[in-house]
Amino acid sequence: MAEKIGFVGLGIMGRPMAKNLMEAGYELVLYNRTKEKAEEIAADGTTVAGSPREVAESCDIVITMLPDSPDVEAVVAGEYGILEGIKEGSLVVDMSTISPVATKELAAKVGERGASMLDAPVSGGDVGAQGGTLSIMVGGSEEDFERAKPLFEVMGGTVTHVGPVGAGQVVKAANQIVVALTIEAVSEALVLGSKAGVAPEKILDVLDGGLAGNKVMEAKREKFLHHSFDPGFKIELHHKDLGIALAAGREYGVSLPVTAIVDQMLEELKAKGRGDRDHSALLTLIEEGAQHRIGEGG
Ligand code: NAP
Repeated sequence: MAEKIGFVGLGIMGRPMAKNLMEAGYELVLYNRTKEKAEEIAADGTTVAGSPREVAESCDIVITMLPDSPDVEAVVAGEYGILEGIKEGSLVVDMSTISPVATKELAAKVGERGASMLDAPVSGGDVGAQGGTLSIMVGGSEEDFERAKPLFEVMGGTVTHVGPVGAGQVVKAANQIVVALTIEAVSEALVLGSKAGVAPEKILDVLDGGLAGNKVMEAKREKFLHHSFDPGFKIELHHKDLGIALAAGREYGVSLPVTAIVDQMLEELKAKGRGDRDHSALLTLIEEGAQHRIGEGG
């Protein structure tokens, strides 16, 4: 009999990921804090549960897709949480981006119940979630990875087992450093070029054709050019991710000087009330520093 799958957290990412699993024929048990979001996407054969505990009671594999470490801790180990209902032999797959340290602690608690856990954070954004083309980096045992692999293959295009529990989160932190620093670099390039009188779209076209070309610039092109900063990936979430990277740097004795600067820039954007904007809105901070909005004359 096919394993029954639970899905907890139906936000920008979780919603399309759960939808793709349903469309691939899996019968899902859904839970979302705001229940209406679960009811909205519930298809034939889908159950909407009243708590994460209820999800765990009726499922063999429970996927979580939540903002941050405290949220995953609450949903897994809190009141009415997954651990209260989990069955021996079940598998928890946390696809959120959280701290590798919190991940290892949670995996130990799950292990005490005779169940196991994978960390499987993703990159590829809302577009990748909708298209089922996410890059999924997985930490945990080989056996658990093989068990969850068919689900990952529905949600993702690139699925990589990177090491033991926590390793997925370490690779995700590395990914978030590159994305944040790239957005910052493209923002500086655009503001410099535009204030000096070159059309921003021309700058992007030229950079795209050479060594400076990159996927971040491609994916965020329209957002940069039109200041259309609806998320996407929120500044507050990326700030959380750089916090995870900096904490990991501290733990392993690795200095991350430029990551620390961009972390502070995201902090400033949050303080200015832009935490819920797409991370490409980092551009606005560089624009303010230059007193120049790109595309508005030299
Ligand atoms: P989101 O849109 O803010 O959705 C978060 C979901 O978690 C919502 O369904 C929310 O419920 C639920 N939730 C929040 N706190 C909770 C709590 N304490 N207990 C129970 N449920 C809670 O976030 P997202 O963009 O989908 O991101 C989810 C994760 O994926 C994050 O770790 C993020 O870093 C990562 N990620 C995001 C992207 C992206 O492009 N968005 C890309 C890669 C990775 P309500 O509906 O009640 O608010």
